[in-house]
Amino acid sequence: MSQLTLATSQPAASAVTDDDAAQKARQAQQKKTAHMVRNNYLIAFSYLIDGVVLALFHLAGTISWVPVVAYTGSGLVIAFTTGWLIGSGRTQRFKDPGIVIGQTIPAQLLQLGAMYFFPEIGFMFALLLFIVYSTLTMRLEVRQALLAWGLISVASAAMLGLSGQALRIPDSTLAEQLISMAFFALTLWRCVWLGAYNTGMTALLKKRSTELAGLTAKVDQLAHHDELTGLLNRRSLLASLHDEMQRADRQKTALCVGILDLDKFKSVNDTLGHLAGDKTLKIFANTLTGHARKSDRFGRYGGEEFLLIMTGTDPDAALVPLDRMRDALAEADWSEVAPGFGVTFSCGVACYQPGESAEVLLQRADEALYRAKADGRNCTRLG
Ligand code: GH3
Ligand code: MG
Ligand code: MG
Repeated sequence: MSQLTLATSQPAASAVTDDDAAQKARQAQQKKTAHMVRNNYLIAFSYLIDGVVLALFHLAGTISWVPVVAYTGSGLVIAFTTGWLIGSGRTQRFKDPGIVIGQTIPAQLLQLGAMYFFPEIGFMFALLLFIVYSTLTMRLEVRQALLAWGLISVASAAMLGLSGQALRIPDSTLAEQLISMAFFALTLWRCVWLGAYNTGMTALLKKRSTELAGLTAKVDQLAHHDELTGLLNRRSLLASLHDEMQRADRQKTALCVGILDLDKFKSVNDTLGHLAGDKTLKIFANTLTGHARKSDRFGRYGGEEFLLIMTGTDPDAALVPLDRMRDALAEADWSEVAPGFGVTFSCGVACYQPGESAEVLLQRADEALYRAKADGRNCTRLG
């Protein structure tokens, strides 16, 4: 009697779904790459701004045109090379596809080199070194960040020692003072930007973990519950049954199972249609769920068959909830299916005998159900 409606495999439909998933993954990847390339344009823009500050120092007579061209040119080469590498997809197989770590190393060397060659505006490069290092640490593990800190500190000290000149903040003229102050302000703004970027990443991470928790709950719901009725599915019911059998063995308590089968359900589908049949199953499930004890397990065993696992229940007591369910079903509102509609169920109950397997227990319940059908339906028989 017991039967399970197996999901039929649909190769055509699943191929379409696979294609959709692959296309979505490709689009997401392209979006991510475009975002990383855009970030590199921002870095290039940032080097241009530094170039403007350097040009102002040149106009103020602080430096020659060499640092303007050398520093800005090198910065742009780093930013555009990185952008090109990312955009061409060559970095996709890296752990860090945005090659943040990869590009901050030449960026830091650039600052150190500039500190060495142009100490007359050395404060600029010291501040930039700080910004680049902050960007780098956002991607590094603590141990790596400490290593980078050690290396940069030693390299900076070596630069200062080798150059033999103090790093200067140009302030001899009003123009130099204004440009230096503007560069301090610019550095502070970059700190704010880094902070905002970090906050944005934290918020995104929070959003993603909330989404992930939702999806995990959904997968869990789908894995353990029947889609139509929302009740426990066959897999969960059988897992629960095994647990309860073990508990009954351990605690020497009674345990009964009842297989409930809708009477003449096929005729509902045949006369009112499959949708009405589905609605019937839903109302049946909703109505009966409310009449099972909290400690019992009630779920869809397959098709129009349901399983009730009654813990701590002997055969006589097992009939009580089933009678209650039968009464509730008679009083349920079926108008959504059709006026004057109603269904009944037959039930086969079997009580666990220590040492027997779940298969044998369910087989006995199934045989009892068969007798209930043979005895005219809408009744319960003990196996
Ligand atoms: P009986 O009283 O002897 O149990 O008769 P029956 O008609 O209920 O039993 P039968 O096994 O002949 O038919 C069961 C029907 O349940 C056939 C199948 O199409 C229908 N069914 C199983 N699962 C679903 C479902 O999810 N939705 C709908 N609408 N029908 C279903
Ligand atoms: Mg059946
Ligand atoms: Mg039936």
